[in-house]
Amino acid sequence: MIRYTLNCKNGHQFDSWFSNSDSFEKLRKKGLLECAVCSSKEVEKSLMAPKITSSSDKKTETLISAQSDLEKEIKALKHKIKGTATDVGENFSSEARAMHYGEKEEKPIIGKATMDEAKDLAEEGVPFIPLPWSDDKVN
Ligand SMILES: [Zn+2]
Repeated sequence: MIRYTLNCKNGHQFDSWFSNSDSFEKLRKKGLLECAVCSSKEVEKSLMAPKITSSSDKKTETLISAQSDLEKEIKALKHKIKGTATDVGENFSSEARAMHYGEKEEKPIIGKATMDEAKDLAEEGVPFIPLPWSDDKVN
């Protein structure tokens, strides 16, 4: 796992986790990276050195972490999403995949996936976006 600090073209800064240094470019080319605040897809790595952690790829991680000055907006967004989307918990990748392949009716869902699962979904072209919060940190 590598953490990059990212900057969008509007000057927002946020952290995001990637399984390796290639996945940033891959996700960006697929248009799967966007700013947590303004949804701009023009996101660049900041010049800070990436930090490599010892956490396992199997551990559930939220892809973009909240910064304290963003918490208010994020809480409002979280409330809205929780009221709209069905929480499927750990079943996110199987549910998202079933909808993508037409096995289930499409509806907004929210849930957790490991970095490995998220990578597989991205490679299959299943649409999803990482949410700008961690359930452990922001309530
Ligand atoms: Zn932005």
